[in-house]
Parts: sequence; structure tokens; C-alpha cells
Amino acid sequence: MLTIQKAQDWMHKTNQYIQDNKAYLTELDQAIGDSDHGINMSRGFQEVENKVESASYDEVSALLKDVAMTLMSKVGGASGPLYGTAFLKMSTAVKGNDTVDQDVMAAGLEAAAQGIQQRGKSTAGEKTMVDVWEPLASWWKEQDEISAENLEAVAKEAMESTKQMEATKGRASYLKEKSVGHIDPGSASSYYLFKALAEVLA
Ligand code: ADP
Ligand code: MG
Ligand code: MG
Repeated sequence: MLTIQKAQDWMHKTNQYIQDNKAYLTELDQAIGDSDHGINMSRGFQEVENKVESASYDEVSALLKDVAMTLMSKVGGASGPLYGTAFLKMSTAVKGNDTVDQDVMAAGLEAAAQGIQQRGKSTAGEKTMVDVWEPLASWWKEQDEISAENLEAVAKEAMESTKQMEATKGRASYLKEKSVGHIDPGSASSYYLFKALAEVLA
């Protein structure tokens, strides 16, 4: 399912979506944060792309670890360590598998979603990227076979569900009920990540 080549393509496509939607991500963060999510993500994923395209890997886990380290060191703000933790946990969970099949990936995504929650001391329903990662990981685990189309739809619906939530974690929580009515920026960038994954797996 996820070969080294596909994992590289995943990061390439994610970076494209992030660069193309940098202004939109910043706009979302302008509404309920400090206006830097587009900048943070665009810097981080450009570095990720540069890193994984220039290196060679003997397994997917090693590539994911590079993604984690790059995001942790190059992205300031809350999202860097959170995305970094997600990819580090995913890397550890899929270690030892030349090709990451659907079940191994299920474990990887579950570990990633849990990692974000541990690191962020957050849980689903708090209007953060957890609201995309957690339902996505649960959905993945239940599937007999992953449909790329459904993967994209589940991620999109999860992102959109954050619009009506009141933030209780991260900067948006300072706004309390005024955070309602806006999509969470980190959920939007997470959506692009899974949209890219869906395309790679299609
Ligand atoms: P910062 O808020 O430090 O400026 P970013 O703007 O890059 O960092 O990222 C903000 C995003 O990080 C939020 O939209 C949210 O999805 C995510 N986030 C913030 N705090 C937490 C947390 N405690 N747990 C999970 N995700 C969080
Ligand atoms: Mg911000
Ligand atoms: Mg910031």
C-alpha cells in the first residue's frame, strides 16, 4: 500500500497543497489565532519535501522519521511539535515493514492520533487537528479496504465539523464562544495531508 516511493509522493503532494493554500491557512489562523499557520506549514513542508526527495531510504519508517524531525526543528508554534510527534509515532508504529500495508498503516495512524493528544493534552471535540486525526484513524481501522474517495471525504467532513466547535485548546480557546463559526487551521492543514494521501493511494 504505502511504499517508499508513495510516501515520498505523499509528502510532495502535501507540500503542493500547503503551498497552494498558504494564504487560506493564514486567513483561517487570522480569524481565531495569530495568522501564522500558513507560514508555519509552508516553511515546514517545503523543508520536508527537500529532505525526503534528496535522501534515500530502506524503509517507510525511516522516511517518516525524517518528516518528524524536519517538522519539529523547522516549524515554530504549536503545530510543529504536534505534527512532528504524529509522524514520529507513525514512524515507530510502522517500523520493520518494507511496505506499509493497510493494517500497519492503521496502527501508524492510531499511534499518530494518540501522540498528538498526549503532546497537546487534548482530545476530540476541542477544535484542534485532533478532530481530523482521531476520526480518520478510527475510520481507517474499521475499513475492509481503504477507498481513496472515502478517505478524502472522511477527512473533509472531519475538518468541516470543527467549524461549529468552540475551541478549548490552543490559541483559539482564548476566544471562547467567538471561535465558533470558523474552521480550525490545523484541521485544514491536516485535511490537505489526508487529501494528498488519498491521491497517492488511489
Ligand atoms: P500557533 O498556534 O502556535 O501559532 P499554528 O498556528 O501553526 O501554531 O497551529 C495552530 C494549530 O495547532 C491549531 O489550529 C490546532 O489545530 C493545533 N493545536 C494547537 N494547540 C493544540 C493542542 N493543544 N492539541 C492539538 N492541536 C493543537
Ligand atoms: Mg498560529
Ligand atoms: Mg504562532
